[in-house]
Amino acid sequence: MGSTDTGDEMGTTGIHAELAKRRKAVLPDWLTTMYAEPIDIERGEGRHVRDAEGNRYLDFFGGILTTMTGHALPEVTAAVSEQAGKILHSSTLYLNRPMIELAERVAEVSGIDDPRVFFTTSGTEANDTALLLATGYRASNQVLALRNSYHGRSFSSMAVTGNRSWSPTSLSPVQTFYVHGSRRRGTPMAGLSDAELTEACVADLEDVLDQLHGNVACLIAEPIQGVGGFATPPDGLYARFKEVLDRHGILWVSDEVQTGWGRTGEHFWGWQAHDGSGKPDIVTFAKGLGNGLSIGGVVARAEVMNSVAANSISTFGGSPVTAAGALANLDYLLEHDLQRNAAHTGAILRAELDGALGSASAVADVRGKGLMIGVELVDPDGLPAPELAAEVLEETKRQGVLIGKGGLNGNVLRIAPPLSVTESEVREGARVLLDALNKVSSSRH
Ligand code: PLP
Repeated sequence: MGSTDTGDEMGTTGIHAELAKRRKAVLPDWLTTMYAEPIDIERGEGRHVRDAEGNRYLDFFGGILTTMTGHALPEVTAAVSEQAGKILHSSTLYLNRPMIELAERVAEVSGIDDPRVFFTTSGTEANDTALLLATGYRASNQVLALRNSYHGRSFSSMAVTGNRSWSPTSLSPVQTFYVHGSRRRGTPMAGLSDAELTEACVADLEDVLDQLHGNVACLIAEPIQGVGGFATPPDGLYARFKEVLDRHGILWVSDEVQTGWGRTGEHFWGWQAHDGSGKPDIVTFAKGLGNGLSIGGVVARAEVMNSVAANSISTFGGSPVTAAGALANLDYLLEHDLQRNAAHTGAILRAELDGALGSASAVADVRGKGLMIGVELVDPDGLPAPELAAEVLEETKRQGVLIGKGGLNGNVLRIAPPLSVTESEVREGARVLLDALNKVSSSRH
């Protein structure tokens, strides 16, 4: 059970309801919140957060896959305050030491040949930049993306998002064609083996390229589809895609906004966690780099990055404060080998949850890599069970654990604690989740 400072059960004082009312009056309706009664998270403490009523939760969603080294890590806080004490802002018009040092570190770990790095303030803007680069480099505005994908909420990143509920506009600055990449329930790909799925997806890609005469800028894809419910393509599929794309000179963009920095365990990037071949031409990143600070970016081969003849600036991308914080975060992550910890604790978590596949009939699939694990819930007819997922989330919250939710139908629980999570914390999180699942499932019968 979650607790307050005094060790009492979760309290409610009405603070949240009042703030939720004010939020509704001033923010757009399309900005979703978690929980029937959303909570005001006021402070973080390592792998835990505390709300405005003093309730403490284990953060099993890592912010929103942003918090890698833990909340309020003293090393990151100190780097941010030290830099803020010197100067808050310096744009790309000047030499900005923290930004240059961070770019050197990112280039070093990028896995890209002759890398160049550009910083943005979000994942959306990183993907917009990748699309600008690819369409300019290839002189084509035709882009391929995967069904069920999510790449952001700007005009162009929405346009390559493969799910209409996230792409309400039909006016697109790029022409997008979608190909199959995962075995989602309800699609013709459901039920195929890894080998069959790989062949079917490659054939789909070849077919789409045939129709477009190969006149395509890039294929953008997430190594594991994040918002799409941690849908995980088989290892080797993306390497096969890359072979096909290379034949046409089409660029391969790996959207590592959720999967970057070790989230998938023992690798910097999700594409490496697949099978290590299929090296991208462009990698986009955000979320985990800043441990919650708003920094994202793009790393690409110099030939691609420098192909745009633009005289451009970025006012906020890689600003000294966010860059200093991101550097401290990256240093901590490496010094403490948190990528290995992600692989280790992820395996424990996975083993605990895999047990549910056999015992809980509502669990249709447990999937993912490292500390990015999805649990797909279905009803007795095997159909998506979004209400069940919502109830399970409410119950885990009641028991002091915050978990995410996603998938095309909102029926996939998304688990992604900070990479610094301990063995006992993953066991505790899994215990609460399984208990919540049992409680909610039996109350529905
Ligand atoms: N790409 C992926 C794979 C994401 O999951 C997200 C956000 O969830 C984005 C891009 C957009 O990033 P941001 O919300 O920082 O703009």
